[in-house]
Amino acid sequence: MKKAKFSPKDFLLKNINFDSEESQFMLMMRMYYIITAVYIVAFYIFAAVTGIFKEMAIIAVWLPLHIACYFTTYRCGRRVVFHIFSGGILTWLIYSVYLMGEDYGAHYFIYPLMVISFFATYKNFYGKVAYMAFLLALNIGVYYFGKVHEPVILITDKQGDIINIMYTVTLFVCMFAICFIFSNTNQTALEKLNSYNRRLKKEAETDALTGLINRRSMYRVLEENMNVKDTNFTVAIGDIDFFKKINDSKGHNFGDEVLKNISEYFLAYMSDKGFVCRWGGEEFLFLFPSCNADTAYEYVLELRQHIESTPITYGGETIHVTMTFGVEEYKSELMVTELIHKADDKLYTGKNSGRNTVII
Ligand code: GH3
Ligand code: MG
Ligand code: MG
Repeated sequence: MKKAKFSPKDFLLKNINFDSEESQFMLMMRMYYIITAVYIVAFYIFAAVTGIFKEMAIIAVWLPLHIACYFTTYRCGRRVVFHIFSGGILTWLIYSVYLMGEDYGAHYFIYPLMVISFFATYKNFYGKVAYMAFLLALNIGVYYFGKVHEPVILITDKQGDIINIMYTVTLFVCMFAICFIFSNTNQTALEKLNSYNRRLKKEAETDALTGLINRRSMYRVLEENMNVKDTNFTVAIGDIDFFKKINDSKGHNFGDEVLKNISEYFLAYMSDKGFVCRWGGEEFLFLFPSCNADTAYEYVLELRQHIESTPITYGGETIHVTMTFGVEEYKSELMVTELIHKADDKLYTGKNSGRNTVII
């Protein structure tokens, strides 16, 4: 049987999915346990070298307990992991003050506890406030306990300095890891949210088949143009002639190809002239800002001419399509719907007069 290879990355990131708040919490806990495990080992070395803890057999179970706590992050839920973690810290904190007095910084471990507690519960404001009050009271209580209680072990100034440095470095690295995970996952989540919003906005504004803007966006563009003082613009509505026949004789996919093909051309043509949208099935609306009907008419004639003369090939078959257009210049006081209606009337005049034409 193949032996599973130990990977430090899997060890740290097992079951971690960066999209969830629970995972963010578990990752913080694991980082905390790993950093403090290094501290415990350093503390063992210190204890062995100085010999000051030789009667304190309880210190020996500290590391195995710590490792067991680490593994709760693989198996237990957020609440259980947090309660075990906070129970562990608070026990150690009180025991350490009992052992060495309150000069040796153990109570500073309340701070990572405070920060991590915020990620342990979701939206429980009063619970968080109550927990903060509890920690504050405990901190003050431990301080006074340290003042009135004679430490079990007497620590020299030099040893005290080493313990304090070890505490400070551990705390510093712990706080760095917690803040890093928090800010990193939050920034990643924000980036994802922004790009998701951008995608949604784009999808809401564009037509999936042709990539042109859709009717809703065109309404916005029309209204923007109408809101300009002394505005002057022209719209044209174009409809493919006998499009149903193309679908019926060549298939729906061919029909789609025709729509995509002419849309590509419209988009390129209109890039320096204005806007084009897919108004409906095989209908397109053009908007020529700062343009009167006569100029727009010239442009639309060009469009009609190009469509008529450009063959479209798909699946080895080639066809020619034609389009009919109605052109209408905006007059002040007109509503968007009235403007479109007028252009539409002209389009239907064109349809009735034989198609493949532009009506102004
Ligand atoms: P006219 O010259 O009078 O405009 O005739 P027409 O056949 O073009 O008009 P009609 O309104 O009868 O048919 C339009 C057809 O367009 C019907 C519909 O199935 C087809 N259609 C609408 N949207 C799509 C699409 O996205 N893809 C394809 N392939 N066909 C579409
Ligand atoms: Mg048609
Ligand atoms: Mg139509």
